[in-house]
Amino acid sequence: MNAEIAQLVSLQELDLEIDKIDNEIKQEQEALDERIKKLAEKEAYINTLTEQIDVLEKERRTLEDEMADKMAHVKDRQSKMMQVQTGREQTALLKEIEDAKKSAKESEDRIVELMEKIENLSNEATEEKNLLKGEKKLVSEETEKVRKAIEKINKGKKEKTAVRDKQATEINSRLIKKYNTLRKHRNGLAVVNVNDGVCQGCFMSLPPQQFNILLRGDQMLDCPTCQRMIYYKELETAEQ
Ligand SMILES: [Zn+2]
Repeated sequence: MNAEIAQLVSLQELDLEIDKIDNEIKQEQEALDERIKKLAEKEAYINTLTEQIDVLEKERRTLEDEMADKMAHVKDRQSKMMQVQTGREQTALLKEIEDAKKSAKESEDRIVELMEKIENLSNEATEEKNLLKGEKKLVSEETEKVRKAIEKINKGKKEKTAVRDKQATEINSRLIKKYNTLRKHRNGLAVVNVNDGVCQGCFMSLPPQQFNILLRGDQMLDCPTCQRMIYYKELETAEQ
């Protein structure tokens, strides 16, 4: 294998290892982000509960005011009873009192209903708040754990990247440019072996003519299907 191929193959091995590290970091972070997102969702739910309670409380207060007015009205009409002269006036007054009492009773029933709802919602809100508090504590511990894990992974990455960058400077810049472009567009894999005439990047067969050229010598070609840089190395040797 010529030196250029060997350099590229070695560089790619390092890059793939670094990609793996990046992926590990991403996974750690994503799992944590998911939990933080769940916390925010719970918090939002508690807010909607609180809003519902506020709306119901407001309605309850309005009804209580109305009820007080109605009862005052009943009292007022009752005191008027002493002054009425005729039976007709008395009947009308009595009806007015009855209507006001009935209306006050309806408000009272609705108030009781509202209070039950408010109590249920308040209980739920309290329960959710307690759960949130526990979950927040867990997530904060988890955040610290993930931060440490990422720190450790990053340290390994830094060491690898330093080796990688040093190797990269030793490679022809035109080749590096091509290598970087291929990595970007070909899922991180720029240089691949050809095994049994099959490109190990796209798993398409090479035209026999081209494979023969590869077999013959120490050179790199481009895969006609995926454009990756291809070389030939016997598999036994490659696996050593
Ligand atoms: Zn290919």
